[in-house]
Amino acid sequence: MKKQRALLIIKPDGVQRGIIGKIITRFETVGLKIIGLKFEWATKEKVITHYPETDAWFKKVGERTLTNYEKKGLDAKSVFKTNDAVAIGKIVKSWLIEYFQESPVFLTVVESYDCIEIVRKLSGNTIPVMAAPGTIRGDFSHDTIDLANEQNRPLRNLIHASDTVEDGEKEIKVWFNDEELFDYELAAEKFMYKI
Ligand code: ATP
Ligand code: MG
Repeated sequence: MKKQRALLIIKPDGVQRGIIGKIITRFETVGLKIIGLKFEWATKEKVITHYPETDAWFKKVGERTLTNYEKKGLDAKSVFKTNDAVAIGKIVKSWLIEYFQESPVFLTVVESYDCIEIVRKLSGNTIPVMAAPGTIRGDFSHDTIDLANEQNRPLRNLIHASDTVEDGEKEIKVWFNDEELFDYELAAEKFMYKI
């Protein structure tokens, strides 16, 4: 079985709230190997490349808004001037570009077997108010889509975690050079797995 890698980004709200250590500890404690770490002030170009520029991604994000508004009897048009999911997704992406530049972000690359499933599980639901207790978003944040959109900003949900192996590899290339990633043996691996 092959190991996987994932990119984690502690977003500006996580950095500014002083919980970088608390968040990273959760990934370390579960046994993921940290192979890269750095602090960086994101550029507009990097954020644009980091989040997919595809209609499929815009649609997913837009539909999340539409579903939430429908459930609460709200009209997306009042904020977005449109009910088109792709158009809404594009607006959310423009907000993400601003959000990511509000403060430096903390970048980490982790490696393990089933790494993607683990980082998504520990991060919790994208919408903090729906994230289960015990997850990072559930324990440390409480934002909602309606409040975020009313304030013309994306959900402040502390962390980004890669959600597929392929996207993870693409994202790692956006933020890290090969020399910044370390290939080494972690003592704990001998005991977690039968090596
Ligand atoms: P991330 O990619 O940051 O790990 P995710 O994979 O859980 O988060 P995505 O669907 O990729 O969620 O959305 C990227 C980010 O865009 C979210 O983390 C959140 O900050 C913001 N976002 C997504 N959907 C909405 C929305 N409907 N309204 C406001 N912000 C949103
Ligand atoms: Mg995502």
